[in-house]
Parts: sequence; structure tokens; C-alpha cells
Amino acid sequence: MNEYSNIKTPAYVCEESLLEKNLQLLGYVQKESGAKIILALKGFAMWSTFSLVSKYLRGCTASGLYEAKLAREEFCKYNKNAEVHTYSPAFKEDEIDEIANISDHIVFNSPAQLKRFASRVKEINPTIEISLRLNPEVSSSPVDIYNPCGLYSRLGTTVANLDESIVSLLDGLNFHALCEQDVDALEAVLTAFEEKFSPYIKNLKYINFGGGHHITKKGYDVAKLIRIIKNFKSKYDVDVYFEPGEAVGWETGFLIATVLDTFTNGMNVAILDTSAEAHMPDTLAMPYRAEVRGAGAAGEKKYTYRLGGNTCLAGDIMGDYSFDKPLQIGDKIIFEDQIHYTFVKNTTFNGIKLPSLMIKRSSGELELVKEFGYEDYKRRLS
Ligand SMILES: *Cc1c(COP(=O)(O)O)cnc(C)c1O
Repeated sequence: MNEYSNIKTPAYVCEESLLEKNLQLLGYVQKESGAKIILALKGFAMWSTFSLVSKYLRGCTASGLYEAKLAREEFCKYNKNAEVHTYSPAFKEDEIDEIANISDHIVFNSPAQLKRFASRVKEINPTIEISLRLNPEVSSSPVDIYNPCGLYSRLGTTVANLDESIVSLLDGLNFHALCEQDVDALEAVLTAFEEKFSPYIKNLKYINFGGGHHITKKGYDVAKLIRIIKNFKSKYDVDVYFEPGEAVGWETGFLIATVLDTFTNGMNVAILDTSAEAHMPDTLAMPYRAEVRGAGAAGEKKYTYRLGGNTCLAGDIMGDYSFDKPLQIGDKIIFEDQIHYTFVKNTTFNGIKLPSLMIKRSSGELELVKEFGYEDYKRRLS
């Protein structure tokens, strides 16, 4: 931990060599299977890494105007042929023209949205490709908040709602049904997708399999994924896209914080200069327990602490962890795997400082990319 004893905290540290390892695996999947992989900015949008990311991935998928602009500005500058795909649960009248201008693909969520905007986007950008997001109504997503195919889902069009009159306007179809899942889960979704929608696939240019594929997680069956893609491509003669976010940022770095105070109230408590609520939101939303470097489960090592954040929310707690030595004020705490779905979701709740963004270069050098301050807090309020 000494390596980081002088870091100004809190800070996210993305490790370039780990990011490149993920990108190499995704590059291998593309090469072997013929699929095209684009980055879902929703999960990972550290644009200072895009000179590297754009060497491997074919573009970005955006959830709306701002992500599309970021993709155009910060990804496409490294690769003029990079693609911007934009999907939104509903596009807005006052944004659709700009979105059409800067997107290569636009994905509508419902037939009504497609009917409303398709000819307008084609007029603005004649080469734009049009897709509809479908809901295959099958998912083994682990939690409801992350299940796009749950009861009364608003995400994607079910087969019952598919309006045949729009089919001739389509260049492709999208689905997104997974969350942190393995290839068997994809296989199950794909079976349902084909059962429901295979009559519509012929004449299309592509099918986009969405995100949620845990390709870079240890144990993921990459060979089987490649087989499935090749099989699908040859069966339907279409391009296949994947748009992972998590798999790109998976285990590529950490959040480092400092112990500000410790005391005992029935158990040992430590207060850190970060926040579960503001900086590690999925630990509360999913919920899950982040690993802490050098620490064990509660009771496993000699000294157990409840680690909590520096906001006034009672539930701003990362969890209970045990350490070999008592925690001291000034000690650094490293939460592992905090690069995806963290800073893209951060808030300035309680006015607490947003963690800095840092990159650990492959050379070992630590680079401070951005530090936030009072102005970032103030600018969002009035
Ligand atoms: C969130 C999302 C993704 C990325 O999902 P990951 O779980 O980060 O891989 C891709 N496509 C769509 C439509 C999404 O909503």
C-alpha cells in the first residue's frame, strides 16, 4: 500500500495495463468471431483512456445526446471510422436533430418513437442506420433493478407490440437483456429472441446483442461465445454487435480513500473521505460488497471495522471488514474494481468532494487526470 501513501484522496485509479488486457480479449473475440464490439459509455466513460480504447473497439453506444456528443468528440477523434450508436428509452423533440447528425446508428425503443422520428433522422443524416430495441422477455438478470425484461418493462418492444408496418424501415435490431452474465445466459436469451423474431432478421444488416456479457471475467467461456456468434452470423448472414460497458472496465482499477476517524459504538467504526452513496452507488443499489485490498470478511482477521462514508446518510456504509492491525487515522483504504458504474454515476450529495480521476500508466507512473473542487459542486446548483 506504500506505493499509494502520498496519493491525495479520494481518487479512482484506472490501471492502463489492466484496461488493455480487457481490450485485448475483446479484440480477440472480434477477430475470431467477426463480431463488432462497441463501448457502452453508460458504464465506463473515462475519455482520457479513449486513445487506447479506440485501438481495439469499433465505437461507442450512447444512451442519449450527451453520451453521443462525448463519443463523437473524444472517441471518433482517434478513429474517424468509429461508430456512434445512440439509443434512448424515448428521444425528445428538441434533441433528435442533433442526435441524428452525430449518430451512425439510431435505436428506437418503441414502434411509436420510430414512426415519429425515422423519416426526420433519415432526412438529416441519409446514411444513418435505423434499429428497434426488442424485448425478448427472457432474462436471468440477478436483480430486478437491473433486469430489462422484467414485469411491465419499459425497455424494448415485445413481440406482441411489434408493429409490422415499421419492419421495412429497419436496418437492424437490438436487444439488451443481460447483466454481468455468462455465455449460457446469452444462449437462453438468443433462443427466445430467435423463436420470437427470426422472421424479421432476413434482409437486415445487423443484430445488436446489447451489453451485460461478462466476457472479461475469469471463467467466462470465450470459446463458446465465439462459436455462438459465428453460428448466428452464418445462419442469418448479418453483422453482430456487442456493446459491453462493465466488461471493458471490469477489474481495471480501484477507489482509494483515507481513514479520517475511528471509534467504537458497539463495534469499531471507521469514517473515510469517500462515500458509498456518492462514489460507490452500486454497493447500495445492487447491493454488493466491494473487496478491500488486504482486508477480510468481518471476524476473519483480528480487527473488524464498519467502513462508512463521510456523508450524513445513516446508510452510507461500505460494509464490515477485518484487518490485521487496528486502523489508524491517515491509513489508506483501497476498494477494488471501482472503475465501471462508479464515476459515471457520482453525485455531490452532501457537498462532498468528487474523487479525482487518475491513470496508472503501463510504465507504473501515476497521472492525475482530473481533480474536482467546490466549483463542480456549485455549478450544478443555483
Ligand atoms: C447498460 C447497457 C449496456 C451495457 O451494459 P453492461 O452491463 O455495462 O455491459 C449496453 N446496452 C444497453 C442498451 C444498456 O442499457
